[in-house]
Amino acid sequence: MARIYLYPNRGRRVMRTLYADEKIESVADSVRERYGLNFFPVVPEVIADAERINVFSARFRNPDIAGLITKRDGEVFIYIRDGDPAVRKRFTFAHELGHYYLHLQKGKGTNFIDAEHMFRMAGSQLDEVEAEANIFAAALLMPEREVRELCDAHVPLREMAEYFMVSNAAMYNRVRNLGLRV
Ligand SMILES: [Zn+2]
Repeated sequence: MARIYLYPNRGRRVMRTLYADEKIESVADSVRERYGLNFFPVVPEVIADAERINVFSARFRNPDIAGLITKRDGEVFIYIRDGDPAVRKRFTFAHELGHYYLHLQKGKGTNFIDAEHMFRMAGSQLDEVEAEANIFAAALLMPEREVRELCDAHVPLREMAEYFMVSNAAMYNRVRNLGLRV
């Protein structure tokens, strides 16, 4: 059933039909907890191994594609663009895991192909499932509690990005979306 969800700290109304942001945060928290990922940077490979997800580096014919996840005969495959910087690959990996937990496991599609622009577009411009996978990725790699603690301790953004092994842009977006100082 469609409902309106109001993003915190943004005051912009977008249509959401699957999950509230808080729900996505708690799914990401429980995944980290389940696999003992209580240290940083988070290692997405641990999750994929435990879930028996096959992960490959790939050279896509379409250079705009950054990653994809697909389910074939009950097996799940994630492909991540070869040659991307490590921080970028980690975010793509976490985004695909978002599709896995939020969409694939719930029967909301079997195939997600992620073009470059999907990671950059914000809020209402984005396809709902893509926005959700991005929220999951941010929540998985940069848990709210830890981000708040580092912000409270006045750790510079660049150091926070290194700690979580994410790009400065991803770190900036996370801090801003949590309504914390940037
Ligand atoms: Zn996606």
